Amino acid sequence: MACIFFFSLPAHGHVNPTLPLVRELTSRGHRVLYYDVEAFREKIEAAGAQLLPIDAYMPSTPEDIDRRAGKDFASLIEMAANLTLALDERVAQDVAGYHPSCVVGDSVCIWGKLLARRHGLPFVCSTTTLAFNKHTAGLMKRKPTELLRTMLGVPRINRKLRQLREHGHDAPNLIGNDTKTPTIVYTSRLFQPMAETFGDSYAFVGPMVMQRYPRQEHDRPLVYVSLGTVLNNAPDFYRSVLQALSGMACDAILSIGDAVDPAALGPLPGGVRVFPRVNQLKVLAGADVFLTHCGMNSVTESLLCGVPMVLFPQHGEENAVAIRCEQLGAGLRLKRPSAPCIRSALEAVLGDSRYRRAAQTVAEDFSRCGGAAEAADFVEAQI
Ligand code: UDP
Repeated sequence: MACIFFFSLPAHGHVNPTLPLVRELTSRGHRVLYYDVEAFREKIEAAGAQLLPIDAYMPSTPEDIDRRAGKDFASLIEMAANLTLALDERVAQDVAGYHPSCVVGDSVCIWGKLLARRHGLPFVCSTTTLAFNKHTAGLMKRKPTELLRTMLGVPRINRKLRQLREHGHDAPNLIGNDTKTPTIVYTSRLFQPMAETFGDSYAFVGPMVMQRYPRQEHDRPLVYVSLGTVLNNAPDFYRSVLQALSGMACDAILSIGDAVDPAALGPLPGGVRVFPRVNQLKVLAGADVFLTHCGMNSVTESLLCGVPMVLFPQHGEENAVAIRCEQLGAGLRLKRPSAPCIRSALEAVLGDSRYRRAAQTVAEDFSRCGGAAEAADFVEAQI
């Protein structure tokens, strides 16, 4: 049986979809060593892998890094280059000690790719977002501020690439997917925009979740609201949501993260509950509409549960996901984050069964995907 190294980001959205694959590989008898932070130990070990903690190699707290890297491409490259260099020696020791047969690395996790290359190990790219290539990159439609930040960051990016080269790392093609690397994508070819531009090196294995919950019906519709686990410090937005919900004939659950004090949101309308974090798949099993930031995992989980969405993307990549939901008829874009707009969008989705039917059509398509078994076959084929 093989030993497989996994490299991922310290972010729920990047770790969660890999866990069913890890569970499948370990249940087939493979040994999986997973580089990530201590905060994810429990879920990584529950999937059967051994955590190799990287906290000591992170430049500052994972939350800080993720927030900055999520907003700014140059920060992402800086973090990736710093981590690659910091992990160099440690990974060399681990390769000598464990003799891995293969590396599976997140598409954003450049250090996984570079370290696999350095040690001549087969590399499988694990893509927890949509797959992006030269045809689909334009779908990101970055905001002017994002574009400006990226342009201003070019000298910083070049400096870091130079530093990587000085340390013997061959660093072209760092970001995004390429046509040669074996790549797993956790969605279906139906949901992937321009899927025909991705060849045989891509396995669209469909959504991967650790647990499904049976559908629960309620007397009143249930609205679920979340901006995900990273860029969720948005008290003004939550206040507008509460204002929109007041007087609506529905119940609601808001997942607001740790950064916002629920008391700062004021009194809650009847039937509304606010939590720092919820079991999202369990909530979605009873939800009738999801007001989402369009993180790939949130949207995928919503579709898997056949729940239509109000779409409120925060950056380019989420915008591409939102566009695809609109194209498939499973969601309606929020025009503005004001209380009247939020209310009218929620009412429009709740009041028109075509949104739910479209979400259910995608769910049916997902159910035909190969899932963890196909992903594990794909990894084994590279060993
Ligand atoms: N999540 C959760 N509870 C919450 C909010 C989010 O379990 O209260 C999970 C959600 O199920 C998903 C992940 O966190 O798997 C969020 O990933 P996504 O790609 O949607 O967004 P990100 O947090 O990376 O922006």
